[in-house]
Amino acid sequence: MKKHKICIVGGGLTGLISALVLSEKGLDIDLIVENTTSKIKDLRVTAISEKNMYYLKSKIKNINSKLFYPVKKINLFFDNNNQLKNFLNFDENKNLMFFFENRVTKKHLFRLLKKTKIKVHKKTIKSIDLAANKVSTSSSSKSYDLIFLCLGSNSPIYQKINGNREIQKNYKEHSITCSVKHQIKDLGAQQFFLKEGPLAILPYNKKKFSVVWSIEDRYFIKNKKNISKYLKNKLLNLIKKNKLTLGKIQSYPLKLSLKKNYYKKNIIILGDGLHVVHPLAGQGFNLILRDIEKLDELITYNLKLGLSIKDSNIPKDLSDSRKPENLLMGLGIDTTRKFFMSNKYLDPIKENILNNFSKSKLLKKITKRVANLGLE
Ligand SMILES: Cc1cc2nc3c(=O)[nH]c(=O)nc-3n(C[C@H](O)[C@H](O)[C@H](O)COP(=O)(O)OP(=O)(O)OC[C@H]3O[C@@H](n4cnc5c(N)ncnc54)[C@H](O)[C@@H]3O)c2cc1C
Repeated sequence: MKKHKICIVGGGLTGLISALVLSEKGLDIDLIVENTTSKIKDLRVTAISEKNMYYLKSKIKNINSKLFYPVKKINLFFDNNNQLKNFLNFDENKNLMFFFENRVTKKHLFRLLKKTKIKVHKKTIKSIDLAANKVSTSSSSKSYDLIFLCLGSNSPIYQKINGNREIQKNYKEHSITCSVKHQIKDLGAQQFFLKEGPLAILPYNKKKFSVVWSIEDRYFIKNKKNISKYLKNKLLNLIKKNKLTLGKIQSYPLKLSLKKNYYKKNIIILGDGLHVVHPLAGQGFNLILRDIEKLDELITYNLKLGLSIKDSNIPKDLSDSRKPENLLMGLGIDTTRKFFMSNKYLDPIKENILNNFSKSKLLKKITKRVANLGLE
């Protein structure tokens, strides 16, 4: 029987995981990744929910669980006139979240790809042809039954598919992130809603955590030269331990982007090309994993019924089922960010609101459930 021809473009987490998840379905898959040796390494650490971790373990053969560091404690603090109030904490017997280093995990995923039948091509795609369902690089052109573009958030190639129709907001903020060596015992994840912007501590092994601090561009520009010192002082102030060693700092400009069109014909966008949310809640890649899970479910269903992937409703079904949740989560995270920003009307009552929030068992339960499962 003729195999369904699939092309996945992009060597980020979205492209690699989509390829591995689909690798056991008897599809003929080409994965096109840029030759990134000259590119800057991704030093970020990503937090994923327990449910998403379970999904990865169940779908990716031989995935190394040791790369995913489990955390059972999460504490959230609010900066109330320079006093930190712990308004929410989760301290459980079971793992709440898993943290992994992007760079190390991507390397591992590349190694796993070598054990599959997926053909990996080190190339940059130049264009797509919607009429012929074709992907072109500088040296070749090929047609496929289904194409997934996982090109990150800014590719001009998306223009043909979604015409850049989106809900968009430039946050005029940068996230600064780096790895920190520490000697704190049993460190859990922590989130501080500070006057300058949200700061998260994400432990990814017993001796290291990653810090992500989202600050306004005016602070970022003002402190750019001494950003490492600025961040270290803030950390020392927050966690009151003087033995912290900071690694290389990376910075990311922040925006909200929620695309209206997920596909055109048989070409589907996946990953940051569909939605980019503020990193304060660590949800961006979690949304992507739920999109991949749905895609996996739709492809499996079509294959089981012996339907042609080329003539299927997969692109529309994926868009119909995932767009509402992605939209609500993106706007919900945006509202959370706004709530914690300085506001002269809201500031006097924030503590009261947060106190009531932390006393409500139901709200705590809902928060935990949404962070784990999305709006399922
Ligand atoms: C500071 C920060 C912290 C974050 N923390 C979290 C977190 O804790 N939890 C969470 O869930 N999410 C988090 N996120 C979000 C998460 O990092 C992203 O959603 C995720 O990395 C997106 O991966 P991607 O593969 O879609 O895009 P990218 O990583 O941008 O990958 C795109 C790939 O496409 C390739 N490409 C582009 N153009 C072409 C072309 N023409 N031809 C071939 N290849 C091409 C690029 O080389 C690249 O490899 C965070 C984001 C930021 C900024």
